[in-house]
Amino acid sequence: MRTARGYAAHTPGAPLAPFALPRREPGPHDVDIAIDFCGVCHSDLHQVRNEWDLEGIFPMVPGHEIVGRVAATGAAVRAFAVGDRVGVGVFIDSCRACPDCRAGLEQYCAAGMVPTYNGRDRDGAPTYGGYSERIVVDERYVLRVPTGIEPAAAAPLLCAGITTWSPLRHWQAGPGKTVGVLGLGGLGHMGVKFAHALGAHVVAFTTSPAKADDARRWGAAEVVVGAGGAAWEARAGSLDFLLDAVSAAHDVSAGIELLRRDGTLVLVGLPAQALAVRPFALVDRRRRLAGSAIGGIPETQEMLDFCAAHGIAADVQAIPIQQVNEAYERLLRGQARYRFVIDLASLRA
Ligand SMILES: [Zn+2]
Ligand SMILES: [Zn+2]
Repeated sequence: MRTARGYAAHTPGAPLAPFALPRREPGPHDVDIAIDFCGVCHSDLHQVRNEWDLEGIFPMVPGHEIVGRVAATGAAVRAFAVGDRVGVGVFIDSCRACPDCRAGLEQYCAAGMVPTYNGRDRDGAPTYGGYSERIVVDERYVLRVPTGIEPAAAAPLLCAGITTWSPLRHWQAGPGKTVGVLGLGGLGHMGVKFAHALGAHVVAFTTSPAKADDARRWGAAEVVVGAGGAAWEARAGSLDFLLDAVSAAHDVSAGIELLRRDGTLVLVGLPAQALAVRPFALVDRRRRLAGSAIGGIPETQEMLDFCAAHGIAADVQAIPIQQVNEAYERLLRGQARYRFVIDLASLRA
């Protein structure tokens, strides 16, 4: 066991502060990764504040949008070599044997995936995330980050990117489809970029007029500003698909009513509160309400390769780790443009 420097919430809701965390010695199949950048995901805030229905494990080192370089490999590692640019997302292990794992959808593993942080590894030890200088991960759960993507801007692809890519691919966003994206934060801004690059007609919905020009730059053909009202009513029944990336409580039925017959609204934003649904919004036009969680390892690699081929990455603001608590407050106030990414060089300085 070795120690690594990192930042942790020592108790639920506490500000993040320096913490020396244990990392295992690399086993035969492990990749030892020196972390360069880690994105700040909204779920990091939820978890350090214990806002979901799961008991957090503290001290908690958040971070599951990790990009780094391979520092060492175990003797049996074949896919990676020292110096390779790699990424780690929301999970670092799963059972590998259930139908979901065999289908490459490890995020739905019947035995439960092992989260990159706020979880327990197979040996029962707490997992610690990417707000740290290094991480040791089995090569099966390590992604290759193509050299064409700037590393800081690649980090958010590992959660925000794949969380929007997976449902857009599953529900076949593409030419001839009208795809709405509700909420233009870390998730939504990637949703607009992907839906546009996949060939869909994209309608972006935001409550923030200041984001309209950005949405058009990402490829939105139309931008609807506001929540509900005449502009929404004018688009009732017009979408094939709506990616709902709002992370706060909101009127999901109003989103469902934007769908045409057999349209689907997919929740990816994970508000902490229950959402009420008006049954008529669903029954009318045989609409569907669905959810989707991140993505499996093969589709995450597919997404990264697609990003490199199409020149896509996240819009990021790099911060030193010493400013992470301030970044959390700015994220809660909706001031991220569009993802804060921690530059871990600040931890080594
Ligand atoms: Zn996340
Ligand atoms: Zn499994």
